[in-house]
Amino acid sequence: VPVVRAQSSSGYVPDSKYYKVEAILRLWVLIISNYFLISVMIMGRARPWRVSQVSSALLKIGIRGVTVSDVRGFGAQGSEFSEDNFVAKIKMEIVVSKDQVEVVVDTIIEAARTGEIGDGKIFVVPVSDVIRVRTGERGEKAEKMTGGRSDVSSSSA
Ligand code: ATP
Ligand code: GLN
Repeated sequence: VPVVRAQSSSGYVPDSKYYKVEAILRLWVLIISNYFLISVMIMGRARPWRVSQVSSALLKIGIRGVTVSDVRGFGAQGSEFSEDNFVAKIKMEIVVSKDQVEVVVDTIIEAARTGEIGDGKIFVVPVSDVIRVRTGERGEKAEKMTGGRSDVSSSSA
């Protein structure tokens, strides 16, 4: 699969210190042998989409806070899905500081992209505040995670 990066952003509006990167990704990848189109249903091997592939790629770049949920979606995901059927997808939500948005977006694309219709979409949403329940900390202190990307990148810089 050729490497694709997000095209450069002209800036996020409205401006915020934190953003939620919300990715709706495919859950299943159909591996279809070109030689047996007729027997697609038989030969096509469905394998569960590797949520772990995305989350381990994020972990590798120091992103430790991730929320995943099972969702059902409807979009331009190909004619093999009927109009009244919502397709099972996975939603990943990652709240990060502004300077970490692009690397998270590119990491998700790299790990989740197949190049087929239905790969999904990523939304970047401003986040007003972060509050840690255990301590009541807010903002920067609450968003930062021990051993997280800001620790990792500042120690290696
Ligand atoms: P602490 O140990 O600092 O008190 P905690 O263990 O109570 O924190 P976390 O485990 O850090 O809380 O977070 C709770 C849940 O919130 C996580 O399981 C995850 O789903 C979600 N979460 C935490 N941080 C983020 C983030 N930056 N982006 C998305 N989801 C997050
Ligand atoms: N921005 C946090 C940090 O650098 C990490 C946030 C996250 O893992 N989602 O510590």
